[in-house]
Amino acid sequence: KDEVNIISGALELRKKTVSEVMTRIEDVFMLDYDAILNFETVSEIMKSGYSRIPVFDGNRNNIVTMLYIKDLAFVDPDDNTPLKTLCQFYQNPCNFVFEDVTLDVMFRIFKEGNKGHMAFVHRVNNEGEGDPFYETIGLITLEDVIEELIQAEIMDE
Ligand code: ADP
Repeated sequence: KDEVNIISGALELRKKTVSEVMTRIEDVFMLDYDAILNFETVSEIMKSGYSRIPVFDGNRNNIVTMLYIKDLAFVDPDDNTPLKTLCQFYQNPCNFVFEDVTLDVMFRIFKEGNKGHMAFVHRVNNEGEGDPFYETIGLITLEDVIEELIQAEIMDE
């Protein structure tokens, strides 16, 4: 039965797009670029349980970099370090994909490995008067794609 699930999951990867399985931006735990890494902020990060935290500047659709939990290793909450300082030091790159990318293509990108195992899903917003601009609508990780492949939830520790 597992094998049948995986085979049908593999065939489905070509039909589904990243926007169908991503974690939507409103559900993403992220940090403001202007945040201060005090005791409260660091506790919230730890409580969230995520190993990668997107950092936004201005509004939540404008993701500028990523904080890895391991980047906090030398941070003392008593120093009230601005998150900005850490972001400028590590400059972790973000990987973006368009919302209509299919999961087989996404899987290949993750497999190649040179861009990490998380990507932000973006789209061109050309509503309204002003110039079109990119907005981030969600994030997708290798785990999300593998769950589609095996057609089951992966329980995180
Ligand atoms: P982690 O290593 O942090 O546990 P995973 O890559 O295992 O993250 O992803 C587990 C699930 O959590 C996926 O569905 C992914 O979309 C989601 N996810 C990852 N990071 C975040 C975050 N910062 N906020 C909300 N959801 C996230």
